Amino acid sequence: MHELDLARNIVELAVEAAERLGAAKVNVVHLKVGRLAGVDPGALHFAFDVATADTLLAGARLEVIDVPLVVWCAHCLTEVELPQVNHFYCPACGTAAGEIRQGRELEVASLEIET
Ligand SMILES: [Zn+2]
Repeated sequence: MHELDLARNIVELAVEAAERLGAAKVNVVHLKVGRLAGVDPGALHFAFDVATADTLLAGARLEVIDVPLVVWCAHCLTEVELPQVNHFYCPACGTAAGEIRQGRELEVASLEIET
């Protein structure tokens, strides 16, 4: 399962961060997940519970922060948010979307800990 590998990486990073902060317990992990990260949130929650067992994060809650897909439009000369990940055209002018500026994230944003 793809999500389990992802969850293990996330948990590893979060454990390191929590140890650096001197945490005795981690209550919540806030995770940024881009629309293009290709992650199924349901599967990720399940995998997170499996991956946190017997770690400093055991019992922690996973809060997913949904990061929208934002691209650069070379015609509008601005960043635009795409409502759908399978339709790569600027919603304002119809130009094929350019560089992806946001939406690939899969990273720990913050931790809520007890010391
Ligand atoms: Zn445009």
